[in-house]
Amino acid sequence: MSDKPFAITLDVGSSRANKTGSWRTERAVYVDRLPPCNNACPAGENIQQWLYDAEEGGEGYERAWRQIMEDNPFPAIMGRVCYHPCESACNRGQLDESVGINSVERFLGDAGIDNGWTVDVTADPSGKRVLVVGAGPSGLAAAYQLTRLGHAAEIHEAGPMVGGMMRFGIPQYRLPRDVLDAEAQRILGMGVGLKLNTKVTDIRATMQEGGFDAAFIAVGAHIGKRAYIPAGEAAHILDAVTLLRSMEGEERPLLGRRVVVYGGGDTAMDAARTAKRLGATDAVVVYRRTREAMPAHDFELEEAAEEGVMMKWLSTIRQAEEGKLVLERMELDETGFPQPTGELEELEADSLVLALGQDSDLSLLDGVPGLEVADGVVEVGPDLMTGYDGIFAGGDMVPAERSVTVAAGHGKRAARSIDAWLRGGRYEPAPKGELATFDTLNTWYYADAPRTVRPKLEVARRTGTFDEVVAGLDPSTALYEARRCLSCGSCFSCDNCYGVCPDNAVIKLGEPGELYEIDLDYCKGCGICVAECPSGAIKMVPERI
Ligand SMILES: Cc1cc2nc3c(=O)[nH]c(=O)nc-3n(C[C@H](O)[C@H](O)[C@H](O)COP(=O)(O)OP(=O)(O)OC[C@H]3O[C@@H](n4cnc5c(N)ncnc54)[C@H](O)[C@@H]3O)c2cc1C
Ligand code: SF4
Ligand code: SF4
Repeated sequence: MSDKPFAITLDVGSSRANKTGSWRTERAVYVDRLPPCNNACPAGENIQQWLYDAEEGGEGYERAWRQIMEDNPFPAIMGRVCYHPCESACNRGQLDESVGINSVERFLGDAGIDNGWTVDVTADPSGKRVLVVGAGPSGLAAAYQLTRLGHAAEIHEAGPMVGGMMRFGIPQYRLPRDVLDAEAQRILGMGVGLKLNTKVTDIRATMQEGGFDAAFIAVGAHIGKRAYIPAGEAAHILDAVTLLRSMEGEERPLLGRRVVVYGGGDTAMDAARTAKRLGATDAVVVYRRTREAMPAHDFELEEAAEEGVMMKWLSTIRQAEEGKLVLERMELDETGFPQPTGELEELEADSLVLALGQDSDLSLLDGVPGLEVADGVVEVGPDLMTGYDGIFAGGDMVPAERSVTVAAGHGKRAARSIDAWLRGGRYEPAPKGELATFDTLNTWYYADAPRTVRPKLEVARRTGTFDEVVAGLDPSTALYEARRCLSCGSCFSCDNCYGVCPDNAVIKLGEPGELYEIDLDYCKGCGICVAECPSGAIKMVPERI
């Protein structure tokens, strides 16, 4: 006897006796929507896929690492220095806190280094030679992708070591050099040619002499911008990039006890934090606007404050003398722009470090016809080709956000464009699919799972050393963090659709990439599967008439 006397209970499968007929107006289809994290990654990583692989642990880690390496050869570096726009876009951020994508990437990158994983080149040699100018992230990434595509890439680097600003800008307490070396060496080990201490001064001459078929230029932006500040002869003024570059030399720069840094970006924060580690008792960042207008990232400001770096907002430097600076207080006008007030004050300073941005040295392009330079950077098309056929450019020297990840993404895009150009075609990136927005998910199905907090070095140990400040995840926390991913827009075979369909119209196929199918003889277009799919991987489409 049923305990629901006034209800009819169908036997499972019995509804398949009744085919839908022709009255359905919509039907369900499986879709693969673009997760917002993937969409936001400047290197174009398939984050949802590699988190899915990592969720398995064990062998899944290597699969996840290899998935990242398709798009970006620097997972261990990314996991330390990328500003992770993917996390700002992550749908989980609207539920509790975004997935710690960056920390899982670092875990996978470190696993790649620890296990000595390498990438095989399977493409047939094309017989084409490509000159890469500059061994920063953009040049290295381009050389890596060109090699995988079968071309012979040769890097000409002006400096004595590879890495660009990853070595001569980003301090060691954020990017240990053994990590940088391991990921750079892996690329060079694939057969990439490298000439160090080889500054290219005339791009066309170098291409001609070396018999190169195409060139990718990624010379970065290394010339520190100066501001006119009247200064006494004994005032000690230097720029931030010079200071940070000298940290890689034999001798540590002498800054004195009281150091003032002028600027509001991440480089200003790095210069002030470096000054602290060099023994400054006072490190003060002077910035002409307010916190809201400051380009430095929150984490840089927070970590700098923890280490005792002080901020002086709404101030400019009027004059530099031996041992002191004259500052002028600014105030915001009605448009929010800082205006001088004429109110002056003195600030003790043994050194003044200017962190006002960097310009590119583009002299190697002098006389190249068709090239356009605007605001100190080279204009390029969507394929990163300059106005001169066969010369491509990327990274800090083209108009774009300046970051390691953007530079690495440019390296990939340029390599694909060069490959297509060398083969007489044009690289067309695959069109971006429909976005898996938060409202396409059914978040009821996901368990609560607070985000993992990354351990940090104690403040007392930070300021005395250049040891890495932020630590990584361990295998259990990495696995946990990967499992927090909601798999936005992609089916993860939870069987909900299979279970909820009142007409048993969902057929289980179980093949990777083809997990279920809708049997249209039975689907009556009710949409329950769409509503109950946690990850937004099914949608209703109008019935074909
Ligand atoms: C202090 C500082 C901190 C930063 N922190 C971060 C961070 O935390 N996260 C982040 O994402 N980004 C950060 N950035 C920005 C990031 O480092 C750059 O956007 C990125 O390195 C640019 O890569 P690139 O390959 O275009 O150029 P670069 O890294 O500058 O490399 C260019 C290379 O070209 C070489 N070169 C130059 N001219 C020639 C020539 N004529 N011939 C041959 N070789 C030449 C240079 O020696 C150099 O090795 C930071 C930048 C600075 C200055
Ligand atoms: S490279 Fe940066 S944006 Fe891309 S997945 Fe990694 S952390 Fe996110
Ligand atoms: S939940 Fe996962 S798939 Fe969705 S945006 Fe975040 S990391 Fe990407």
